[in-house]
Amino acid sequence: MRIVLLGPPASGKGTQAKRLIGKLGVPQVSTGDMLRAAKKAGTELGKKAAEFMSAGALVPDEVVIGLVEERLKLDDAKKGFILDGFPRTVPQAEALDAMLERLASPITHVVQIDVARDLLVERAVLRRTDKRTGQIYHLKYNPPPSDAELEHRADDQEDKVLKRLADYEAITSALLPYYEKRGLIRKVDGVGTPDEVTVRIGDALEG
Ligand code: AMP
Repeated sequence: MRIVLLGPPASGKGTQAKRLIGKLGVPQVSTGDMLRAAKKAGTELGKKAAEFMSAGALVPDEVVIGLVEERLKLDDAKKGFILDGFPRTVPQAEALDAMLERLASPITHVVQIDVARDLLVERAVLRRTDKRTGQIYHLKYNPPPSDAELEHRADDQEDKVLKRLADYEAITSALLPYYEKRGLIRKVDGVGTPDEVTVRIGDALEG
């Protein structure tokens, strides 16, 4: 299975991708995680991406496309993958199609995770990540254990979240008709417990 998880910021793409790895036996490819790792490691690419990310802005297409191209060449992606946070623009989707065409392995499913806007803001603002494990928590709905080492993403501050949501609506949502034309979209209600949403995604992938 070669899956794209599509949804606004804080719709649960990262949480669900991590759960699907075990279920489907394919790796998660998260451009957000890769960019944060590059930033932390202080690589040239990380430095280039950092200013966009901390402003809640999209990183330029050529940067993320190059990153995904290298990642999908690795052996573990040959059996399939779950793309989380990529593509986010039509040029990214076109570049993805071109790279997968070369490998004769097109996208098989696009899962669109739907969550109402008000809930997205609350989810992002109260989201915390354990920096040792990468586990994602929510201070109200999924509280972390007392020994977690919590991080609050700079781009999860309310003003940055609003900018990211606006970009999703203005830019990324153009991917819905792009993939709808090809009959790839599976809509999933993203409101509920993480377990409930995982079951819905499992059903949508089977259908
Ligand atoms: P995420 O963890 O998916 O919410 O991504 C965090 C941030 O990384 C985004 O707000 C962007 O600044 C950047 N980013 C991640 N994926 C992409 C992408 N496909 N295109 C452009 N920027 C991205």
